[in-house]
Formats: sequence, structure tokens, C-alpha cells
Amino acid sequence: MIPFLNLRAQWEAIKDEALPAAERVLASAQYVLGPEVAAFENEFAALCGVAHGIGVNTGTSSLHLALLAAGVGPGDEVITVPHTFVATVAAILYVGARPVFVDVEPGRMTMDPTLAAQAITPRTKVLLPVHLYGQTADMDPLLALAEAHGLTVIEDACQAHGAAYKGRPAGSLGAMACFSFYPGKNLGACGEGGMVVTADAALAEKLRMLRDWGAKKRYHHELLGYNYRMDGIQGAMLRVKLKRLPAWNDTRRAHAALYGQCLAEAGVTIPWQAPDCRHAFHLYVVRHPRRDALQARLQEAGVQTGLHYPVPVHLQPGYAGLGYGPGDFPASEAAAREVLSLPMCPFLTSDQVREVAGQVARITRELDA
Ligand SMILES: *Cc1c(COP(=O)(O)O)cnc(C)c1O
Repeated sequence: MIPFLNLRAQWEAIKDEALPAAERVLASAQYVLGPEVAAFENEFAALCGVAHGIGVNTGTSSLHLALLAAGVGPGDEVITVPHTFVATVAAILYVGARPVFVDVEPGRMTMDPTLAAQAITPRTKVLLPVHLYGQTADMDPLLALAEAHGLTVIEDACQAHGAAYKGRPAGSLGAMACFSFYPGKNLGACGEGGMVVTADAALAEKLRMLRDWGAKKRYHHELLGYNYRMDGIQGAMLRVKLKRLPAWNDTRRAHAALYGQCLAEAGVTIPWQAPDCRHAFHLYVVRHPRRDALQARLQEAGVQTGLHYPVPVHLQPGYAGLGYGPGDFPASEAAAREVLSLPMCPFLTSDQVREVAGQVARITRELDA
């Protein structure tokens, strides 16, 4: 079986350094925040090209806190996309605001700036584009829109560690950016983790308070806060992995290039890549009109795949209250029907990439016959 993602191989690759690092944290008893988290915050913010990183317990919490720090609350509208992981939208509801969906661009599969412009109302506070699959949204037109209308831009960069847009790192494009360190992400903890990064010192200070009970000084609660702190051991694990992230991302890009070559004649649509962006290839997502059949046949052939995502958020039963329905976002709905994520991780071999591509080519030929 060729696995979709191989976290055990990742552990084998880091364990000589990770085990002593974990032991140091355990022996120091600095289990929550502490020096490892502080060092990781600085190192990860530097990768993003900004001054401040605020480590939290999940990517979802990072989105929640970024929206709070932007002053978003009941009566406000936040523009985002339905073709994303549900957390993007849940966080908007957590602060009591209204998610306003706009469709994605059909090729890039991120927020369509023209549609975003049409969705702005006097209640709009934030644009929340998602850097889906490891490729940034088309940020310049979105930043121009935000500037013209006095909106805050928050990047959902949970899939885009190490990506860049026109030479600027993901994480440095909006006022704040949100990252997840869920184990399967390009940079993942040995458990849960997340971070907000920002260049703005005042926002950073507010975010630090919000993640730790709204207090700067213990037991003095200036704001309504949360217990969203990052564990010390996760800070240590993430530091060990962060050193390897650039090489891991290079391997992902090499695998993506090889997939692209091997799939050129196969009957699937390969991912569209913006020429001026550095893709982090969190996921390698192809499209096919008979996606479910292709996925089932690949499974039979020993190739594990994933679906990101099979149901757009506006059609999820838990979000029916937002009042959207089928047909509202055709590009997102078409993507949900057709996308298939092929195995992608740095611990896949080139031979495995060729094997997967060969199986895809064979099966699509049979399906099209
Ligand atoms: C993973 C992810 C999140 C949520 O991160 P968690 O750490 O799982 O809470 C949010 N948005 C996107 C686009 C993601 O991929």
C-alpha cells in the first residue's frame, strides 16, 4: 500500500534529535509555553518574514484569536470561501460574526477577488482568504480591496507553511496569518498546535493576552481570554521539524513536478500553479469527472488517496443556518465533486510517485474507454 501520508517515516527521520529534546522539556517541567515555545515563535515568525509569533493550541484557535484581535464580533461580516476546511468558517461563527461566502477561482481554487469586491457591504470587517493546498490566494487584488474599504486581511495559512506570493512569504501578506501544526500539515506537531503571526506589535500583544486568559500579569484579566496556550513539548518538537521544513518542502515540490510530468498524458487535470508563487504542496490535488470511481480503483490498486474537500462548507448540514444552497458557488461545488488528493509527503519516494501516476493513467484510460 502506498500511504497518503507517512508520519511514522517522519518520526524515524527526526527521532535522534526529537527524543532528547522532548526529554529536556519533560525534565524541565515547563509543560505549558516556556522557553521552547518562545524560541519556536521567533523562529517560525522569521520564516514568515514578520516580527511576532503567538503560539496556540490549534490552528482553529489561531483563527478565532485573529478575528477577535481584529475586533470582529456580532453584526460584522467576514468574507471567505466555501471550498475550505470547516475551521475557517467555524472561527467566524465563534466570534458571533456572519460568514459571507464568495466562490473560488476555478483554476487556482482560492478566493476570487472580483467576487470578493461584489460581496463587500458596510458591515464587512475582514477578508479571510485561504491559501488552499499550499498555494497562496491571489493576494494583491485582495489587499487593494481591503485598503480601499478599510478592511483587515487575515490569511488562513494553515496549509501554506513555507509558501510565497511574488517573493513575499505566506504569513507576511495580511495583517495577521493563521497556521496549524496539526500532525499532517507540512509542519506538524506531535499532537495539536497553531500560531498567529503578525508584523504588528499591538496586535501581537493583544493576541498574547487572548491566548492566556486575557492577562498580561497572572490573575489580572484585562480581557475576556481563553486557554489556548501551546504545550512546551510541542514547541520543542516543532523546532526540530522546522529546521527540516525547507528541505521537506523542496521534496514536495520535486514530487509535484514529477507527478506533473508523469500525468501529462493521463486523463486527469493536474493542479494549476501560479507562475509567480512558491507552492508548498501540502496537497497534490488532481481532478477527474469520475473521481469516486478513480479513488475506489486506486484503493484496489494499493494507492491511498484523500478528498479535500468532498462537501463545500455552504452545503454542510451544520451550516445550513447560513441560508446558502446548491448552485450558489458553482466552482466550489464542481471542485468538491472532482478533486482527488494523491499521496504527497516528503517520505514518499520518486518510484512511488511514478507508480501512483502510472496507476492513475491506467485507471483513467479504462474509465474513459
Ligand atoms: C488544518 C486547517 C485548519 C485548522 O487547523 P487545526 O489545527 O486542525 O485546528 C484551518 N484551516 C485550514 C485551511 C486547515 O487546513
